[in-house]
Amino acid sequence: MLPQMYIPVSTKSFIRNVVTNTGGIYIHVPFCQKRCIYCDFYSTTYGLEWKRLYVSALKREMQLRRLEIDPSRVPSLYIGGGTPSQLPVSLLLEMFQAIGGCFTFAEDAEITIEVNPDDVTQSLIDALYQTPVNRISMGVQTFSDSLLRLLNRRHTSSQALEAVQLFRRAGYENISIDLIYGLPNQSLESWKHDVDVAVNLGVPHLSAYALSYEEGTALHKMQEEGLVEEAPDELSWQMYGYLTDKTAAAGIEHYEISNFAFPGKRARHNSSYWDGSPYLGLGPGAHSYDGNHVRRSNNTSLKEYVQATADVPHQTETLTPQERYDETVMTRLRTVSGLPLDILTDEQRSHCLQMAEQHLLNGNLVREDNVLRLSRKGIFVSNSVISDLMY
Ligand code: SF4
Repeated sequence: MLPQMYIPVSTKSFIRNVVTNTGGIYIHVPFCQKRCIYCDFYSTTYGLEWKRLYVSALKREMQLRRLEIDPSRVPSLYIGGGTPSQLPVSLLLEMFQAIGGCFTFAEDAEITIEVNPDDVTQSLIDALYQTPVNRISMGVQTFSDSLLRLLNRRHTSSQALEAVQLFRRAGYENISIDLIYGLPNQSLESWKHDVDVAVNLGVPHLSAYALSYEEGTALHKMQEEGLVEEAPDELSWQMYGYLTDKTAAAGIEHYEISNFAFPGKRARHNSSYWDGSPYLGLGPGAHSYDGNHVRRSNNTSLKEYVQATADVPHQTETLTPQERYDETVMTRLRTVSGLPLDILTDEQRSHCLQMAEQHLLNGNLVREDNVLRLSRKGIFVSNSVISDLMY
């Protein structure tokens, strides 16, 4: 990583040239009412005054950096966090007004906002109606109330179901819900119930992640103290297997390791991360990518963010060709579209195929039309297959 605020010459030329980039926008809203025990995303539990300062700083950053992508035809906007639905309605509307002043969206743009189920009220929905939001991403995690309490989530299972119905009644059909499996003491039966409820809800998009014990989280500390244990691999595989079988039977495409969607309902914004498209990340802790070789991360400090008078404190990193290859392998192989070998250099392709040989033989990988893909068997061991192909 380069030191904070250091912008190498190559990055400056990136900033000049990048106006031709058609890229999406990510906005990080760093507020949560309380912290979930497993979460390592950057957020604070600060109050209203900080939220006001944040929106002012965000407007400034937007103005300053809008030309890093083509602001006249933005294909997607993803407002995540933290918890965007923790912003008061007046600040949410102020934020959207500023977005509208800086960027014009493509006609079919996908505009997503993350919400917490217990923040979903008629007044939030009425406010979103005044914005271009056309997709809702809801952190449900599980439909078990006892597990929700263990995770320190704010909502209950019935609040999640009600929130989905409230959005539907208001005409929002494009809803995604997040689930987590491998929770402490979660049985296979409990997970099957989660999947069944999610599939029966008929939401067009579902993301499901295995619980990870990230350093610095309350969950990690509980693990160190012997209070919780990671789910055994065998159980995690059974859970994942049930998820893939159940969604497939319901006609839901498994288009990325952790993501499932009805045809035509894949998350376009997230897909652009996986296919190497550029994106502009705004807000503390947000990441940006020029679609070529420069990554930027804003510092994870709300205080520094609101105090900045010019560009916000950040770091940039120029990827080497090998790092770009590694990222390409990692992101492309996670998707059903796989890794097209013709996007690699000759040297990279030959390294890739050499490292893939064993996995092609044992059936973890398949090669079709010059594209490498994980097989169903390979998806279960994707981490080791992908790391074997890297430099
Ligand atoms: S999971 Fe979401 S709501 Fe929970 S602490 Fe993390 S960002 Fe906040």
